[in-house]
Amino acid sequence: MPHHESEKENLKRLLLHYEPNIYEDILKVFEVFQSIDDHVTIEELKSKLKDKGIELDNETLKEYMAKIIALGFATKKDFQDQPTKYEHRHIGFHHDHLICVRCGKIVEFEDQELENLQQAIAKKYGFNIIRHRMEMYGLCNNCKSKMERTMPLPLAKPGERYVIKDIMGGRMARLRLFSMGLRPGDEVEVISDSFGDGLIVARGETRIAVGKGIANKILVTLKSDGDSILSSTDKGQS
Ligand SMILES: [Zn+2]
Ligand SMILES: [Zn+2]
Ligand SMILES: [Zn+2]
Repeated sequence: MPHHESEKENLKRLLLHYEPNIYEDILKVFEVFQSIDDHVTIEELKSKLKDKGIELDNETLKEYMAKIIALGFATKKDFQDQPTKYEHRHIGFHHDHLICVRCGKIVEFEDQELENLQQAIAKKYGFNIIRHRMEMYGLCNNCKSKMERTMPLPLAKPGERYVIKDIMGGRMARLRLFSMGLRPGDEVEVISDSFGDGLIVARGETRIAVGKGIANKILVTLKSDGDSILSSTDKGQS
């Protein structure tokens, strides 16, 4: 990218002036950082550097990134419930973020109408915007459909929490499951699916053995821990 090339030259000039002893090391870090078109954590950056044969400890890497930020070539973002992420800083370019609270996916967008609206709102309330951050937290479509999908219990992934939505197969099946302690609305987790031809399911602190046949009559959806994160976010902002 020609643009990236000129930024690198720009940084090199500043580093030669401010950090003449370590400018080459910082520049190598910057080159790898530039090649990543995404928001990266220190750990992710560290492993990319390692791929290129550059091994640095977290402290040194953080120190180098702090210098790159101080010189105006990167920014640091603290999104809620996520480790600190670094991204490129291109002068004159502004963007906002959509953040998935489940998988951590970040989408960048630019919307002039939204920018204008923010200016208009500030003006209406007698404010002059110096800078702003627009971050919208939610679920990406992929996570949302994953959360809404209803499936028979044997398809549930061990280790994830599910909610029983319904029990198929009429009164007998329902009664049998009730007697085992499983009802619609219960929160369950598949502990093991390698037990004979059945499943070991946890409800509360109890482990329950469920045969595959009857397990197929239990319909579950993934429990949305996103809901609690979302509502706490809303509370935080009201
Ligand atoms: Zn904006
Ligand atoms: Zn997601
Ligand atoms: Zn960004």
